[in-house]
Amino acid sequence: MHLSKTPFHLNILVCVRIPVLERISTMIRRILQLGNETLRKKSLPVKDFQSSDLGNLVEDLSNTLQEAKKSFSYGRGIAAPQIGKLKRVIFIDTQVFRSPLINPRIVRASDGRFEVWDSCFSFNVAFFVLVDRYYRIRVEYLDQEGKKQVIDAENELSELLQHEIDHLDGVLATDRLKDVKKIMMRQEWEKAFK
Ligand SMILES: [Zn+2]
Repeated sequence: MHLSKTPFHLNILVCVRIPVLERISTMIRRILQLGNETLRKKSLPVKDFQSSDLGNLVEDLSNTLQEAKKSFSYGRGIAAPQIGKLKRVIFIDTQVFRSPLINPRIVRASDGRFEVWDSCFSFNVAFFVLVDRYYRIRVEYLDQEGKKQVIDAENELSELLQHEIDHLDGVLATDRLKDVKKIMMRQEWEKAFK
């Protein structure tokens, strides 16, 4: 069949091709729940930045995070093991910072620590635990192109990064609970602190 080379036809080809590819590769994934063995496994570093696997994983994390935020009215980050992928990738989405972090490592931490109430999509945000975190950290990571990046974080963002990086080592917020009496169901926590 003869294809016309007019701009009109080219536009149609472009418009059709991109959405179809994106829809095949990205999804909202089920978030694994506390008790699932995969959450306790150590994730492996990403080494391949060329194949579409990494891009698909980042898209899945981003989409799943957006959906979970809507469902739970909480949440600023997600880690690949939570959707069953044992790769060292997290996705952060706060008002000040939004990015995937690949192979993130805490390379510096303050002496100062602080206590903060924490929850997790893998608990369905059903309860909160009081945990102890570094107040300030420096994290080195790779971006999606494999370029080295650095972020200095303090307070809430520091806590969030520590929470998500913990997931990559099979560590959950409940493991950081220092006082077993410092656990509150969401309803009670909201009455007390919101
Ligand atoms: Zn979590």
